[in-house]
Amino acid sequence: MVKNLIRNKSFYKGRLLGKYWRVIIDGTGLFYFREKHCENCLVTKVEREDGKKETRYYHKVLEAKLILSEKIVISLGTEFIENESEDVSKNDCELNAAKRLLKRIKKEYPRLMFCIQGDALYAAESIMELCRKNHWEYVLTQKETRQPLLEESYEWIKEGNGGEEVSGIGKERGQGYFVNHVEEMVEAGRGRWKIENEGFNNQKNGIYNIEHLNSYDSTAMKNHYLITQIADILMQLYLSWNPLIRELGQSKKNTSSRLLESFRRQTVTDEDVLYIQRYTTVYLE
Ligand SMILES: [Zn+2]
Repeated sequence: MVKNLIRNKSFYKGRLLGKYWRVIIDGTGLFYFREKHCENCLVTKVEREDGKKETRYYHKVLEAKLILSEKIVISLGTEFIENESEDVSKNDCELNAAKRLLKRIKKEYPRLMFCIQGDALYAAESIMELCRKNHWEYVLTQKETRQPLLEESYEWIKEGNGGEEVSGIGKERGQGYFVNHVEEMVEAGRGRWKIENEGFNNQKNGIYNIEHLNSYDSTAMKNHYLITQIADILMQLYLSWNPLIRELGQSKKNTSSRLLESFRRQTVTDEDVLYIQRYTTVYLE
């Protein structure tokens, strides 16, 4: 489905500088349990308010979201952050999961040009090296605590008047300093911010409720999560190609219930089947 959407020229406009598909990597927690849940749980000790230590068992996920357009941001790949077995000495982490995910994306889409975007957590040498090796670009957020040397250099160049003060940046008319004259990056960086705030939030608080535990079984949990990503792609496409739905003021929840209802009730005619046969090819590997 994703490959077809990429091949479909209608989203070419969404590429950065007419060339790079923007991919945002971002992690989120899915579930946590107070008792051991499975062999693959991430295990953390937290201190409670009363000073007592408590062990918590987590399940997290890392997403690579592909920006097709300002309104359509879909899952390009999912990597579950989990331990291989119970007896590992160190928990799996976002960074390791990101490496696995990016390698998998390169394998699945060897020729596509990507611009990887993420927050300061991913601004690590290993990720940048991986991007360069894949001939991808990257825009990563810098944070004082995570990249102190970069912060220092930036301040140093700025103080020596090596930076250029610019005002009226973007829609917000913001102010900033360009140390390397990289104005295009403002647009790209803003895209990352948007998805972090909208992508997961929609799924968490909106109609899908990805944090709701539907099954205690970890394989079922993962399958449910992945199916949600597929549903999300369909929903975003449906909503963006039917702008009238927004104007009707129908809530997303209603829209999805009605969609589901129409799948259930509407009779599929011979004509529909013919149409599907003509325009759909399923490849089984
Ligand atoms: Zn578990």
